[in-house]
Amino acid sequence: MTIPIDKEPDDFASHFWGAIEDCHFCKKSTKWWHENTNNPVCPDCSKKHKVSELPDHGQLIRANKRKRNKTIELLKHGIN
Ligand SMILES: [Zn+2]
Repeated sequence: MTIPIDKEPDDFASHFWGAIEDCHFCKKSTKWWHENTNNPVCPDCSKKHKVSELPDHGQLIRANKRKRNKTIELLKHGIN
């Protein structure tokens, strides 16, 4: 495996975004992601490709993470 990928967690992601996206390389539906660049990559393609082949959506994911953390905080403490 040349691109390290993580499975999108079913619970949180599916509620807010829908977990299934198309693989960046083969366009097959996948629940697997390369976290740092925020790209969907299926397990087959992760073995055949390198991280440097992915567009870097790092800034976007960092912004999304901030949003996500904020949402989690709101859910934890209640929105009053
Ligand atoms: Zn693929």
